[in-house]
Amino acid sequence: MQLSLRRRITGALPQPVRYGLRRIIYRGHALTCPLCEAQVSTYISHGADFEVLYRRKVVGGMIREHDQCPACRSADRTRLMMLYLKNVSGVGVKPLRILHIAPDFGLYLWFKRHRNVDYVASDLDLARYRHIENIQKADITAMPFKDNDFDIVICSHVLEHIPDDRKAMSEILRVLKPSGKAMLMVPLATDGQGTEEDPSINDPREQEQRFGQWDHVRLYGKDDFISRLSGAGFTVKPFNGYDLFPEEAKDLLLNPQETLVVCEKSNA
Ligand SMILES: [Zn+2]
Repeated sequence: MQLSLRRRITGALPQPVRYGLRRIIYRGHALTCPLCEAQVSTYISHGADFEVLYRRKVVGGMIREHDQCPACRSADRTRLMMLYLKNVSGVGVKPLRILHIAPDFGLYLWFKRHRNVDYVASDLDLARYRHIENIQKADITAMPFKDNDFDIVICSHVLEHIPDDRKAMSEILRVLKPSGKAMLMVPLATDGQGTEEDPSINDPREQEQRFGQWDHVRLYGKDDFISRLSGAGFTVKPFNGYDLFPEEAKDLLLNPQETLVVCEKSNA
């Protein structure tokens, strides 16, 4: 009850204010968040413990211990995206036009520290993102951007909320430049049992039990997620930080199971 009250109070504060408060509360010298540069005493645990998440071996679901920056709330998956953007995409080195859908606050702060980034953020609900500069209202299934517009599109933990995810995938493909790459992440079931999906469900409690979160409309099987993206026209190249950058991946406390699904437009 006390926690719930505290969350209701802090949840009403603007994101930069909450971030500043958390940065003070968790101040310490144990870790420096590579995204927001807060020096903190610990990373915190996060995630959910619904049975389906464990039964389906959902990477990006389940409880993850000591994983999340308590200030900006970046987690292992955000650090994995940062690693790719820095070491593979060349952010800060060459000019890049980037679309960040449902922008993570930590990654947004990281982009702000880099030159040569032409940054555009978008979301359907702008009220959640008043603190983000240059954000545009956009329905991911009908985006107000021209064809071949972006070098990189980042879309993390969004598609599992979208009923017509194949339309969203084709939209991401459309707005990418011919040589562009989409960086896509969703909670992925890795038990080989495919995607759990039922459009008729509209009950948050049942969605928690079936898909692992109250507002998710499906739980992707890893192979099926990649197959849907291939079907949309992408060349899919899953990226695991430990394969190419093992020392840095270890330093960043990345989850060895976490996959960044990199989608190239090259053969579209
Ligand atoms: Zn942080």
